[in-house]
Amino acid sequence: MSVDDFKARLVQVETAIAHACERAARPRSAVTLVAVSKRHPPEAIRTAYAAGLRDFGENYAQELRDKHLALSALPGLRWHAIGPVQPKNAKYVAKAAHVFHALERLDVAAELSRRRTGGALPCFIEVNVAGEQSKAGVRADEVPRLVEQVRALPNLTVVGLTAMPPLNVEPEVNRPHFRAVAALAKSLGLTQLSMGTTADFGVAIEEGATHVRVGTALFGERPEA
Ligand SMILES: *Cc1c(COP(=O)(O)O)cnc(C)c1O
Repeated sequence: MSVDDFKARLVQVETAIAHACERAARPRSAVTLVAVSKRHPPEAIRTAYAAGLRDFGENYAQELRDKHLALSALPGLRWHAIGPVQPKNAKYVAKAAHVFHALERLDVAAELSRRRTGGALPCFIEVNVAGEQSKAGVRADEVPRLVEQVRALPNLTVVGLTAMPPLNVEPEVNRPHFRAVAALAKSLGLTQLSMGTTADFGVAIEEGATHVRVGTALFGERPEA
């Protein structure tokens, strides 16, 4: 994709974000657009960077490690690790990520804490809002304990919650899930909410999302893994 083609997609996404912010009476600056680049080559990220984006989301720790290396020359680029990691791969997240959106295990938190240098890693706890078996994340009723345990660790800061609602449903179906996660975050004194993808970021912003994770609307369909 050319930079101009990418810019055209970006304008569409930005327009939708702006409209959602207006509906919610929130400033555009309250929402960070995380461009989800997983499975797209580094060249696609260069194109998005040239179009002005700086925040990129990657799911897989090794892919994050590789792209972090490949693109280390781009100033101001921020990596968001948005997928759960195994303890053995936590070192890559600790090294490359500016923000971790998918904390769901205390052993991973401990490993991140041990490996992190150069400033606390902001972390979102990932909530499996609909209690789906196949889905990552901790159950809502287990979130307060994990938050408390992670807060006790050095080199990590719990900043918010990530909602992983059902996929392939109408956006309105996920509104109650977003709302529930927002309420849970508030009850724990957490101010940031990572929620909303291509399918439902408008609704997520209406319900308070501070970070939307948008892949397909920006980069197109992902290549097969
Ligand atoms: C892939 C992915 C996204 C982006 O999904 P799109 O539908 O392509 O916008 C967002 N969040 C997570 C955790 C993902 O794995």
